[in-house]
Amino acid sequence: MAKMTPMMEQYFEIKKNYPDCILFYRLGDFYEMFFEDALTASKELEITLTGRDCGQKERAPMCGVPFHSCEPYITKLIEKGYRVAICEQVEDPKAAKGIVKRDVIRIVTPGTNVLTQALDETRNQFIMSIFLQDEGSGIAVCDLTTGEFRLTQVENADSLHDEITRLTPAEIICNDAFCISGAQMDYYKEKMGIVITPLAGNWFDAEECRKHISGQYPDLSMESFSEYPFGVIAAGVMLRYLHETQKTSLSHLSDMIPYKISNYMILDSATRRNLEVCETLRDKHKRGSLLGVLDKTKTAMGARLLRKMTEQPLIRKKEIEQRLDAVEMLQDHAMAREELREYMRAIYDLGRLTMKISYQSANPRDLISFKNSLYYLPYIKEILQQFDKGMLHQMARDLDPLEDLYQLIDKAICEDPPVTIREGDIIQEGYDEEADHLKKARTDGKTWLAELETREREKTGIKNLKVKYNKVFGYYLEVTNSYQDLVPDYYIRRQTLANSERYVTEELAELADTITHAQEKLYELEYKLYTDVRDYLASQIDRIQQSARIIAWTDVFCALAYVAEHHNYVRPAINRRGVIDIKGGRHPVVERTIKNELFVDNDTYLDQRKNRISIITGPNMAGKSTYMRQTALIVLMAQIGSFVPARSANIGIVDRIFTRVGASDDLASGQSTFMVEMTEVAHILHNATKNSLLIFDEIGRGTSTYDGLSIAWAVVEFIAGDAMAGAKTLFATHYHELTELEGKIAGVNNYCIAVKEKKDTIVFLRKIVKGGADKSYGI
Ligand code: ADP
Repeated sequence: MAKMTPMMEQYFEIKKNYPDCILFYRLGDFYEMFFEDALTASKELEITLTGRDCGQKERAPMCGVPFHSCEPYITKLIEKGYRVAICEQVEDPKAAKGIVKRDVIRIVTPGTNVLTQALDETRNQFIMSIFLQDEGSGIAVCDLTTGEFRLTQVENADSLHDEITRLTPAEIICNDAFCISGAQMDYYKEKMGIVITPLAGNWFDAEECRKHISGQYPDLSMESFSEYPFGVIAAGVMLRYLHETQKTSLSHLSDMIPYKISNYMILDSATRRNLEVCETLRDKHKRGSLLGVLDKTKTAMGARLLRKMTEQPLIRKKEIEQRLDAVEMLQDHAMAREELREYMRAIYDLGRLTMKISYQSANPRDLISFKNSLYYLPYIKEILQQFDKGMLHQMARDLDPLEDLYQLIDKAICEDPPVTIREGDIIQEGYDEEADHLKKARTDGKTWLAELETREREKTGIKNLKVKYNKVFGYYLEVTNSYQDLVPDYYIRRQTLANSERYVTEELAELADTITHAQEKLYELEYKLYTDVRDYLASQIDRIQQSARIIAWTDVFCALAYVAEHHNYVRPAINRRGVIDIKGGRHPVVERTIKNELFVDNDTYLDQRKNRISIITGPNMAGKSTYMRQTALIVLMAQIGSFVPARSANIGIVDRIFTRVGASDDLASGQSTFMVEMTEVAHILHNATKNSLLIFDEIGRGTSTYDGLSIAWAVVEFIAGDAMAGAKTLFATHYHELTELEGKIAGVNNYCIAVKEKKDTIVFLRKIVKGGADKSYGI
């Protein structure tokens, strides 16, 4: 066999360490792919497949993408489930002996594709590490773009599933045990678009994992993690994976924070979907969801925080009230709030900036945007300082205005710098003496050139003689053909064009040398000064992240206060007695979407004794679902810390909300719908507690009347029984028979949605009233 070319040898040497990646091999201004990789990539990216001589008889299949616009290509491959290894030249080609040394500098995977423009800044991009065991699962989640890093541990498969659907990570890394359930995997891969990366068993060795954790966090005491042994393993695996793929210091990763899912209201994935908490059921848009109504934030950091809060409502009275206090203060001080919102608008994504700094990919323009954001911090702090108690007060105290960083960037970086960092024009005058000196030499050089031009014109009599510059020849003298006879001997010809000739002289060459030299030195110096500034910022990442967090909270509270005022919401009272008492409640989304019609408000009263279960009857389209959902959403909003759409509301904290929405929209066959329904109902009945809120919308619909009725009947009896006595339930049904339960089972009450008959038509009054509907108008 013929010998490979040296370059191909190098390629194979590197490629053999990354068999599962598509290797982007840097060659000049391109990333090239070869052999199998080239075949795959050319197909997936729809780019031309060519060949390259590799020393063998057959040419190597090859395709490439320009390095300066490689990002969309990488993103496309990642989205299709591939991993991309970026192989760069790792030594200066000028200094290289023989072939330039190359190495993989980063592996891009779906969960770690951080440098792409395609990122949705209003939501986190998570990578999740799962260590599944029989006794429970450890979970670690990280958003590399903001540095958030948290871990937890859950007891069962349901909770694990809920966490996965809540966080919707881009990528899951896991042990083999997790990959066993085929149906579940298909759902994650196909429906949710998650890429699942199983890792070998030895990754999950507890001792190894601890080493990786203490490598990243040398001072961390493991005591606070004693409740999360599996979570710690998941976190160790995560750190190792991130180090192996990112190959950077990960200095922007914030501390590892443990959390308990039982400290938050639990919303299972079906409930989040049914209530359209963060996205609509049908087209998965934020618009039309609860979050769509609430999200009037102005910054990316605020938007991400609000999403997180909406997905994880609180269950502790004190915490909820702290948030409500902050919202109330900002509602009362509308001027201060609007001023804050004005400043927020100008604030750049500080969270993701820290990532860019840590990856050394922040360019001078990023720093200017950063500086422009910092400009507002002292003002924000001052406004927050007028609040003398609660969270706002604490935020004012903790907000570091980062004035020193502002000053540094302001002094060092030009106002309108280029994105490139190796071609000067970055450093402000007056920042560094030597840089100023070199700049002067450059400017002076321009004057010298002008002088030389005038001098040569006079000497030779060539009236249109010009000193010009291009990248290939540097400086030269241009003489048009009409003056050729005046060109003196000491002009050295460099190039002949159609209408002119280009020359240099010894003097010009020397001058050019001085200028170019100064320029090169200047570029080098500016580059160094720039990276010094960036490195200094990197050393201050903790401070920046802290301020970023406070800005996010400020933004969220301002947004909630703004929404409360503009949509006419009230502050809910919070109780621990399990009483939900809403007067004049409205559906936050439907009230904004119905046009030409007023939304009719309704009361809800539920407690843990006589008013536990409301059976709601009424014709189709009367407004039953809307009513039940609005109750659930009002409770949820209150526990987020938001004001609520009602005349008044007193909300007893609930630990979970469950919803089961009947099969009326399902096209599935009777049998399988029935099965789905039964499993979901069983799930609810198993997991609900007396502090839960349950919403059943037309259960038993997917089956024959008789079976359906029996199921519905049995469910009501079960909920009312001892096992979960107290769970508050709204139960919409078209089985009129269920109204018979009132009086028979304690805690059950009948309600219906009023309609008025007018000749042959009925008019929906949308008002909920006591009693059972006397006629079924259902079709
Ligand atoms: P059902 O569950 O009884 O079939 P829905 O709750 O789906 O009825 O309501 C049907 C439509 O009626 C909703 O899409 C909404 O436009 C309108 N609607 C419901 N409740 C109200 C209300 N309180 N005020 C005004 N319109 C309402």
